[in-house]
Amino acid sequence: MDGPSIVLRKYQVSCVFCDSEKDIFSFRGKNVCRKCAAGLQLLSQSDLE
Ligand SMILES: [Zn+2]
Repeated sequence: MDGPSIVLRKYQVSCVFCDSEKDIFSFRGKNVCRKCAAGLQLLSQSDLE
């Protein structure tokens, strides 16, 4: 699947790290919530607000 590495999901999935089902997106084939992504510094803090 082509396109950006971060794709917002249209359906409910869970985070691979914490099993949260809130604010999940796909990063390189893994489902990650924003909180964990922030912890991993995949997103800058400014992107979370
Ligand atoms: Zn998470």
